[in-house]
Amino acid sequence: MKHRDLAIIGAGPAGMAAAAQAAALGLSVSVLDEQPRAGGQIYRDVDRVAPRRGAILGQDYTHGITLTAGMHHDTIEHLAKATVWAIEDEFRISYTQDGCAAQLDVDRLLLATGALERPMPLLGWTLPGVMTAGAGQILLKQSGVVARGAVLVGSGPLLYLIAAQMVRTGTPPIAMVETQATANMARAIRHIGGALRGWRYMAKGLKMLGDIKRAQVPRYTGATEITIEGETKAEAVCFSHKGQPRRIPCDVVYLHHGVVPNTQAARSLGVSHRWHAGQSCFVPTLSVWGQSDVAGIFIAGDGAGIGGAKAAEHTGRLAALKVAQELGRLPASERDRMAAPLRASLSRELAVRPFLDAAYPPCAEALHPADPTTICRCEEVTAGDIRGYAKLGCVGPNQTKALGRAGMGPCQGRYCGLTVTALLAEANGQTPDDTGYYRIRPPLKPVTLGELAAMAPTQQDAVE
Ligand SMILES: Cc1cc2nc3c(=O)[nH]c(=O)nc-3n(C[C@H](O)[C@H](O)[C@H](O)COP(=O)(O)OP(=O)(O)OC[C@H]3O[C@@H](n4cnc5c(N)ncnc54)[C@H](O)[C@@H]3O)c2cc1C
Repeated sequence: MKHRDLAIIGAGPAGMAAAAQAAALGLSVSVLDEQPRAGGQIYRDVDRVAPRRGAILGQDYTHGITLTAGMHHDTIEHLAKATVWAIEDEFRISYTQDGCAAQLDVDRLLLATGALERPMPLLGWTLPGVMTAGAGQILLKQSGVVARGAVLVGSGPLLYLIAAQMVRTGTPPIAMVETQATANMARAIRHIGGALRGWRYMAKGLKMLGDIKRAQVPRYTGATEITIEGETKAEAVCFSHKGQPRRIPCDVVYLHHGVVPNTQAARSLGVSHRWHAGQSCFVPTLSVWGQSDVAGIFIAGDGAGIGGAKAAEHTGRLAALKVAQELGRLPASERDRMAAPLRASLSRELAVRPFLDAAYPPCAEALHPADPTTICRCEEVTAGDIRGYAKLGCVGPNQTKALGRAGMGPCQGRYCGLTVTALLAEANGQTPDDTGYYRIRPPLKPVTLGELAAMAPTQQDAVE
């Protein structure tokens, strides 16, 4: 069995920065990521794409090349196309790569599994032609494909970024239907001090809005009662704006409602989580080094709480310093000296977050969708079904599995978990912390019998 000092799951900014830092301190590191190339969400395919599409995707994207370069180190092994589906105690990692299951033993584990787009369940969101804005951006980054005549629906800085990127390709969206209202911005003003500290982000945001305005993309802010109309595919976005009903014909809809930490791997290991009211999601309970309450498990990047790509780099490096110190490669005094500038930069990066969280909250309609809305897409469970389970006495998401298989499909609850928590919390008059979340068990991602059978014999014995 191969053995390494540190395994990192996720080759985004957090994982790449942590790997480079750990390797520089003499640790042997394996970085596993299911994607074919390093980069994570923001720097997806950056080595391949930057020369051709860097101008469209912007400098924030091409910065990723400095991080992918750091992965070329003698003691870093990058396992690309490696999907991690199980992590056992202290610590054996099971993954699939090129159709074959394999395992790896490590002393320490850093989860840098990033964020997921928050689900935006609306009537009609399961129709062909509707996808997340992030999926639309993946098409642009990986394949240079942009949908013509798309309507962007939702809220958040990433929605503006994707709209601005579409404008730069010469195929702007035909409209933006935005859920944040003036009252949200008024609440956000309380955090103006942080916004001013994060003035670079504010300046970028204003530039994106300027690009969108110059391209004459109509914006409908404070939209409510949003539905997607269509028989066999998306045909129009319908909503209410300033008290007037609106209908925008289109066959492509990009939904985006912010991002939330991808906590699946951490939950499968029993790491405790708490509700983050500002970001309306669960976050793992961590020390200032990213150390969880399960010995040997660290978490960095957006998986630890949404902070953005630069913050992800810093939290990745901080975790690597702590791991190196724990494994005897770095005195504690030197660890603290190296950490000080990282902490200062991290604090600057995070200053703008409370403003952004307050200005672009998830909208109530998508957190508590109408009864007929499908919320578990894998098992076709509706919001009304979940409310019905609550009437039967169901108080937590795990019981919904028994009652109607919610969260038991291939996505393992990634896309319905938060909605199920919100619906049950509302129906039972509980807090999200009291309501809890799905218990996550391996396999974290689907694995086939063929992949298990193809495992090397010694490793098969270990599994048996
Ligand atoms: C769809 C999407 C698009 C985004 N685009 C932008 C953008 O353009 N600009 C921007 O500023 N921010 C963007 N963000 C936010 C951005 O993801 C983060 O701020 C930043 O990338 C976080 O870095 P990270 O290292 O924490 O995680 P990520 O960059 O998300 O990297 C996590 C990595 O973990 C891997 N992973 C997860 N689970 C497993 C597993 N079980 N097995 C193997 N690998 C696994 C994933 O493949 C991924 O590469 C986007 C977020 C999403 C969800």
